[in-house]
Amino acid sequence: MHSNRYMLLAILFSFHIFGAQKIVIYSARKQQLVKPVFDLYKKKTGVEIVSLSGSEASLIKRLKSEGAKSKADVLITVDAGNLWYAEKQDLFRNIQSQVLQKNIPSHLRSPQNMWFGLTVRARTIVYSTKRVNLKDLSTYEDLASAKWKGKLCLRTSKKVYNQSLVAMMIADIGEGLAEKIVGGWVKNLSRPVFSSDTALIKAIDSGECDIGIVNSYYLGRAKNQNPKLEVGIFWPNQKSSGVHVNISGAGVLKNSKNYKESIKFLEWLSSVEAQKKLSELNYEYPVNQKVEFTGLVKKWGRFKHNLINVHQAGQLQVTAVKLMDRSKYQ
Ligand code: FE
Repeated sequence: MHSNRYMLLAILFSFHIFGAQKIVIYSARKQQLVKPVFDLYKKKTGVEIVSLSGSEASLIKRLKSEGAKSKADVLITVDAGNLWYAEKQDLFRNIQSQVLQKNIPSHLRSPQNMWFGLTVRARTIVYSTKRVNLKDLSTYEDLASAKWKGKLCLRTSKKVYNQSLVAMMIADIGEGLAEKIVGGWVKNLSRPVFSSDTALIKAIDSGECDIGIVNSYYLGRAKNQNPKLEVGIFWPNQKSSGVHVNISGAGVLKNSKNYKESIKFLEWLSSVEAQKKLSELNYEYPVNQKVEFTGLVKKWGRFKHNLINVHQAGQLQVTAVKLMDRSKYQ
């Protein structure tokens, strides 16, 4: 009788000392890309990571309707445009963490410390290694020049990745110049836009187009499936503003009851150990600069980032969508 009561007290006591034993994540990332990292955290700390998956739109909607009653602690999603939107919906709580500030470069996190990049995704140029001479490649801007007429392929402007890319271009070179370039891209298209980066890569391999813009990890996946793929990667704008980067990232929710534990978890996610695993699971790049690249990503080499803060992807999203519309970019 007594021992049971003591055991209960002991459990309550340990809960009090060690904080939460469980963190609830709402995640818009595919389970297989995050689960191994969550499992490692549980192994190291005993804290269980419970994740609920869904599209970012459905998760944000759910968080808003749950309000203060929400059991969720952390939101994880891709694209700074989405994180910016969640911030605007007042879902996050500000985090002051020296660890996160140190491990994550400032252009890859919210200026208000509301969300933090966990992996870097480069939206870069891919080309046919059969039909394109490397010497002809230079910048995103150059893809608007007449030499690429009938040779360029793009993914739909409806995808947030391209909205973010154009938003960042507007932040970088101004709306007028960005519009000229996007208009030039549209004129150079060899065929209607694709619904996915993967389909675009296959079309370059099969000869439907010579050149395109994709997130580099899609080439990683495609090469993993077919090492003979005749598609190469190119890092544009290395003598100017750098490659357009975006992030997958996370923030601690305003209504979390495990604020401190959740920050600890994010801090661990920014550590070399977690970063290596997170980035390697999807051929992405670590945000933590101390992590060594491996495999295909190592072969592709290091590149210069465009250092404009990724929150511009959200800030200028509406402007970008209107610009693409005017340019008849479908
Ligand atoms: Fe993707």
